[in-house]
Amino acid sequence: MTSKESILGVKVTALPIDTLLEDIERRIHSRDKGRIVAINPEKIMMAQKDGNLASLLNQSAYQIPDGVGVSIASKLLKGSIRWRITGVGMMENLLQLANEKNHKVFFYGAKEETVVKAIDKIQQSYPNLQVAGYINGYEKDEEVIVDRINEVKPDIVFVALGSPRQELFIDRNMSRMSAAIFQGVGGSFDVFSGNVKRAPYIFRKFGLEWLYRLISQPSRLKRQLALPKFLLLVLKEKFRKGNK
Ligand code: UDP
Repeated sequence: MTSKESILGVKVTALPIDTLLEDIERRIHSRDKGRIVAINPEKIMMAQKDGNLASLLNQSAYQIPDGVGVSIASKLLKGSIRWRITGVGMMENLLQLANEKNHKVFFYGAKEETVVKAIDKIQQSYPNLQVAGYINGYEKDEEVIVDRINEVKPDIVFVALGSPRQELFIDRNMSRMSAAIFQGVGGSFDVFSGNVKRAPYIFRKFGLEWLYRLISQPSRLKRQLALPKFLLLVLKEKFRKGNK
């Protein structure tokens, strides 16, 4: 599966969600391992300073365009991405796929009460879903985690430890975990559990999730300063390319 764009040296998969899901289904059938990373301006900025993170992101099977910043950058750089696939949205799509096709899912991450509550809510929405198991994100013994996953053999593993911790965990352990698809989902278990509210529809419609998050959690301001810095770098890149 190709069709990738590069934004400041970080790859982003330029395929709509339906095509992505078809490819994921193929991987599950052929046990062809692949990981999904969500690409947002904050991660692209981290990757500018951290070459290891950049190559880890670039070597993933799927880099979803998480957030309006990435689609604006794609447009500025004459790419084709005009949509967003958020981490939580991708997870929802995978849960639906698993529910329909009888794939087993595993959850690793967040606080014990959060992951338990998230699974409970998810099972209410997807009654046929096969939950293979879970472990909270404060279990740090990777042998314990890998052994548990290999015992229950899920098809899809969701890892919710925040970035880049979850990407690093998947990178270190993917080859020895018996599962096909691995997604780092950040704070998504908090969203499914209901502890953290998702941005209301009107904010999502206009790509303003970042504004909603800023209003509800002002402490995220520092993280969000990545967005204007990112757009400035993209503009520089655009003019550099234009002048060639
Ligand atoms: N977390 C965890 N183990 C850790 C540190 C964090 O399970 O050692 C969880 C934390 O409980 C939260 C999630 O990781 O559920 C981090 O969410 P955040 O919104 O910071 O992630 P982001 O999507 O912004 O990277």
